[in-house]
Amino acid sequence: MSNNTLEQIGRALHEHQRFAILSHVRPDGDALGSQLALALSLNQLGKDVRVWNEDGMLEKYNFVPRASLVTKPPATPEDFDVAIALDTAIQNRLGTTFQAIRSAKVWINIDHHQSNPGYGDIVLIDPDSPATGQILFELIKSQHLPLNAEVAENLYVAIATDTGSFQYPNTTARTFEIAAELVRVGVDVGRVSQEVYENYPRRRVELLRELLGTMRFDANGRVASFGLNLKMAKQLGVIPEDNEGLIDHLRAIRGVIVAAFFEELIEGKVRVSMRSKSDDVDVSAICEKFGGGGHKLAAGARVPGTLAEVENKILEAMCDAVSSDS
Ligand code: 5GP
Ligand code: MN
Repeated sequence: MSNNTLEQIGRALHEHQRFAILSHVRPDGDALGSQLALALSLNQLGKDVRVWNEDGMLEKYNFVPRASLVTKPPATPEDFDVAIALDTAIQNRLGTTFQAIRSAKVWINIDHHQSNPGYGDIVLIDPDSPATGQILFELIKSQHLPLNAEVAENLYVAIATDTGSFQYPNTTARTFEIAAELVRVGVDVGRVSQEVYENYPRRRVELLRELLGTMRFDANGRVASFGLNLKMAKQLGVIPEDNEGLIDHLRAIRGVIVAAFFEELIEGKVRVSMRSKSDDVDVSAICEKFGGGGHKLAAGARVPGTLAEVENKILEAMCDAVSSDS
């Protein structure tokens, strides 16, 4: 797959007028921050922009500038000059936003997932970038797109969340240079950190307490996992965004190499979220065997079956992966 250049994307953005900016279902901070940053920058150029996500805005990220621009897609499809998919490894993870595009002269695909096959007319996939927000910063700077404090805060949220607060190994010197520039443009680091990490609903911590009760270790403590069944989720009133980041409690345990979080879904499937601490254990490869994908150190899949069935299958694959690693 060959990439297009920032210049080619810049030309398409300057040339056209009507844009739809989309990202993946069950969005995270990188997806939503990236969508808003690009939308706000294009707005400054006088462009007409729609910002759609199947799940709409998450309660958790409601604090970001102009959060209300992100909406669920309309039932009646619309026509665009350009549709842009951000942070979305495969097209079907655009969910219902895809059906809301009746036509687009150009499809642009900007992402950092190694598993992205490069769908679309203009494609820029950079797996070395720790966040889609980092690619967008390079795009905005190099193509002279507006970068005000509102754009900066959205980019900062995108990058800070996808790097695990600048801690994951994909964080580079360039990431810190970009963060420094965003802070100079006006990001209030203390306020953003408090919004992201010190503003959880109590429900999320109650969920963590339940999950820790199901925690198990396999492969001599190198594999850790926990699971959430529908009954427990209902009792606690859990909403999907409560899950984000909980798996980090497993990854943080000494000796653990791979961690998994299993979540029973209503449609007879289990959502699997997986993390690795070792370059030798590629969780994207494990998840691809079950129809999912992602990054080497963070991946996921939706697997048909009951919670127990999926747990057994996946844990077996994880144990295999850590034993072939040594
Ligand atoms: P998370 O565990 O935070 O939901 O996802 C971690 C990474 O795996 C993300 O980069 C996400 O894009 C990817 N991912 C999660 N679930 C799926 C899935 O069902 N299919 C694919 N292809 N990727 C997924
Ligand atoms: Mn991302």
